[in-house]
Amino acid sequence: MNQKKPEHTTQRTSPNQSVELAVSILDLLQEPAFLLDESSHLIHTNPVAEEHYGATSRFGTGQDMGGLFHDKELFQSLLNRALEAGGVAIHDELTAIDRSGESVPVWATIKTIPVRGRKNCLVMSLIPKTRETRLLHNAREMGLRVENLYTTLAEVRAELLERTIQLGEQKNKMLAILRGMGDGLLVCDGSGGIIQYNEVAREVLRLPEGDLENRAVGQLCPELSQVLGISPQTGNAPMQLAREENFIVGNRELRVSIAPLYDNRERYLGLVMILQDRTKQAEIDRMKSDLISIVSHELRSPLTSIKGYIDLLISGDLGAVAEEHRKYLEIVLNNANRLATLIDDMLDLSRIESGKLTMIFGKVDIKYLCDFVYLTFKPQAAQKKLNFRLEVVEGLSISGDMDRLQQALTNLVSNAIKYTPEDGTVRIRAYRDNGNVCLEVSDTGFGISPENQRKLFQKFFRVKDRRTRNIGGTGLGLCITKSIVEAHEGEVTVESQEGTGSTFRIRLPEYHG
Ligand code: ADP
Repeated sequence: MNQKKPEHTTQRTSPNQSVELAVSILDLLQEPAFLLDESSHLIHTNPVAEEHYGATSRFGTGQDMGGLFHDKELFQSLLNRALEAGGVAIHDELTAIDRSGESVPVWATIKTIPVRGRKNCLVMSLIPKTRETRLLHNAREMGLRVENLYTTLAEVRAELLERTIQLGEQKNKMLAILRGMGDGLLVCDGSGGIIQYNEVAREVLRLPEGDLENRAVGQLCPELSQVLGISPQTGNAPMQLAREENFIVGNRELRVSIAPLYDNRERYLGLVMILQDRTKQAEIDRMKSDLISIVSHELRSPLTSIKGYIDLLISGDLGAVAEEHRKYLEIVLNNANRLATLIDDMLDLSRIESGKLTMIFGKVDIKYLCDFVYLTFKPQAAQKKLNFRLEVVEGLSISGDMDRLQQALTNLVSNAIKYTPEDGTVRIRAYRDNGNVCLEVSDTGFGISPENQRKLFQKFFRVKDRRTRNIGGTGLGLCITKSIVEAHEGEVTVESQEGTGSTFRIRLPEYHG
């Protein structure tokens, strides 16, 4: 049977196609390049070669290219080696002559292109030696840079490693500190999510077991949530100024110090809280205050009796008293009175601190209050030849406890008179200011240094000054005044200059019916 042979499907490149392909590739090169036949006759030059050597115009196609070089033999030998190498590129240094007749040292590369069915072609490129040197230099530079880059990268890696180790150590240290802290620590973000905490915080706030990170503080501890003013709707922890607050969780009395947390661009991040269990301390405070209260009560009765009998003796009702004896009795009475004042102050303070100071609130007429205190101190002021003045705006009233407010104002006026030398001025003023009533006591006395002004309202604080050394006092008056004013939702402030005088100002919300 005569079977038809399958047709050839493989496409072959014709000799002409190979040469055309070589020519088009040559034209794309940025270096001077030539296409030659095996006998070094020119077939084609690319535009760059034409520009530098004008080969076509100088030699014309089909001409021997040996004339392009000073050392024709060298060129011929390079060509032969390329032919022998059969497709491997061969390089050598030659000296070419450019189109203006100048000698150009070049790096010549010749490679054979096999062409099926006809003699081979050769491609020759000429790279000026200067250019080639620059390329080599660039390559070396590049190599150096890469090397440097590797060194830098290795250094960065080492540093990163060290930092990571340091960070790890710092984190461990911080965790150890958090664990070792006697106080509770709780940090939450602006949305009330827990960022950091320690076990003490978990225990005192009675927080649940397990990981608390990112859990809402508002839901976990309603008591703390109330202190922080966390909104039940959003759960957000609002920004607040640094402050301290007491609150109760279960049967424990806790104190929390709250501080806002900012990043280095002053953006609010959340709150940091230090929690202290004050249950024991509060119990001790209560016991102390009970003790003071009992002792003061016990001292008061005998003291009242001592004062009564001295009064009786001084009055002469029990028989005539010699002038010298009277002097001694008066000293005893004076000291008994000081003791009585101290006991009263201590009793008041212990009542204030324990929250047992009962206050009966009502409408307090400011004119009446100021008149009362003014008239009480008028004789004392006259004795010291003070210019004692009263300036009260009519119709002012506040809501408060009359007796306690009298006590607060009395403390200020008594101090002003005590700490102002003879012939000075003491003035009581009452006026309206921005919805508040101001009760102001100013004097032209010794004045108080800025440093002492900061401690003025502390318990038992007295300025150590030779001018006031002999003036009696307990150091409790201003502390009591402050507590009374704060119980009325007001504030007491001081402005003073040493040697010029002082102004104490009580500011209370005005009564509006
Ligand atoms: P004291 O019973 O000692 O007067 P206070 O608490 O009333 O206690 O006052 C504390 C201290 O403040 C006083 O000891 C005194 O040094 C100083 N001080 C108070 N008021 C004045 C004033 N008007 N002028 C100067 N110093 C004053």
